[in-house]
Amino acid sequence: MAGSERAVPGPGSRAWNDRARRVIPGGVDSPVRAYRAVGGEPVVIARGSGARVVDVDGNEYLDFVMSWGPLVLGHAHPAVVAAVREAAGRGLTFGAPCPAEAELAERVVAAYPGLEQVRFVSSGTEATMSAVRLARGATGRDLVVKFSGCYHGHADHLLVAAGSGLATFGHPSSAGVPEAFASRTAVLPLDDETAVRDLFAARGGEIAAVIVEPVPANHGLLPQRREFLAALREETSRHGALLVFDEVITGFRLGPGGAAQRLGIVPDLATFGKVIGGGMPVGAFGGRRDLMRHLAPEGPVYQAGTLSGNPVAMAAGLATLAVLEREDGWSRLEALGRALEDRLRPVLAATDPPARLVRVGSLFWLDLGGKDRAPRRAEEIPGSVSGRYAGIFRRLLARGVMLAPSALEVGFLSLAHDEADLERLAEALAGALDEPGVQKR
Ligand SMILES: *Cc1c(COP(=O)(O)O)cnc(C)c1O
Repeated sequence: MAGSERAVPGPGSRAWNDRARRVIPGGVDSPVRAYRAVGGEPVVIARGSGARVVDVDGNEYLDFVMSWGPLVLGHAHPAVVAAVREAAGRGLTFGAPCPAEAELAERVVAAYPGLEQVRFVSSGTEATMSAVRLARGATGRDLVVKFSGCYHGHADHLLVAAGSGLATFGHPSSAGVPEAFASRTAVLPLDDETAVRDLFAARGGEIAAVIVEPVPANHGLLPQRREFLAALREETSRHGALLVFDEVITGFRLGPGGAAQRLGIVPDLATFGKVIGGGMPVGAFGGRRDLMRHLAPEGPVYQAGTLSGNPVAMAAGLATLAVLEREDGWSRLEALGRALEDRLRPVLAATDPPARLVRVGSLFWLDLGGKDRAPRRAEEIPGSVSGRYAGIFRRLLARGVMLAPSALEVGFLSLAHDEADLERLAEALAGALDEPGVQKR
């Protein structure tokens, strides 16, 4: 099928999109799936296996979205599917403790630096929302600091955008978020320790927590200088605030100890999602026992969930981590990432303006900004990347290669991808860049 082109989406996808749009806003349950950033309408997926998905028209795609991160082993990995079947056969949910919760918690605690206890929730959004509440409850302070370009899910206090000032308070990035909530969140630029130190000098005693994606991967891929993250550790410790690493993407993907282990920086609290649930709805947040004991029923910070620690979801997470450990998954993912970089570098360098692959482990991003170094802040990515990316995205899709439908979203490798898949991506990309509308040198 390589090289052949087809019209996507096909009639089957179009029909399902029509039906869905009548009863679901925009036809989707998460906005980026609607393809607004790349034009057209989404292909509707019927099934997936390994590194491939098949749409309802029978078109197969080599997938680099991988459900936006959870599928570190690929689609429908046999060990995960077997674990889910077995758990489902014993009952879907009990609303009472089950062994798998303690087992997965033990693994997470053993793997992640500084973590002594963890609590499971059902999404990354819940994890960060709960971690922020815990940080506020434990410190008795209100202010939360986040960084422009970092995404922490859609809880009110974290759905806040930077304004034009250096440290801005109170700009909800969604309708329906009260100014009063947003005013309790400060937004700073990434890569700027001075802004952090200035804010702590002015208001350090009011700050409950600094939350950051240690490898920001939701607005392009913006690897940070270690000194910047170390400054966050230093300032929070000095002022009695908590450092929260949002490892929803990076946790158990960059390694068993996530970005914290890679960087050698231990946060006070960490949040997880995506990989930890192996494709089922799971999130988690954790930290030292002296912080976690503030949570109900031991302490006054309330947090709960009917389906939290769900036995089927826990089984998927456990099976996923077991395969990663058994198959030396993390070093294989790193090797795959390196191989991708080797293959794509010459292809991207040949375009004008030159494009670049930004990669951390098995996360990658096409930097189309044409600048002489990879961006470290959201503000360094020019708006022009969107149009350029849309054309590339559509040509790749027509060639059977699926990237994320937005210039600002990262790609994901899994253990199901092999060298031939990487070669296929490189070839398809070379072809897509060659076509009219995408300048090549
Ligand atoms: C995906 C993501 C979230 C939100 O997780 P959901 O499961 O989509 O609610 C939070 N933080 C980061 C860093 C993420 O990538």
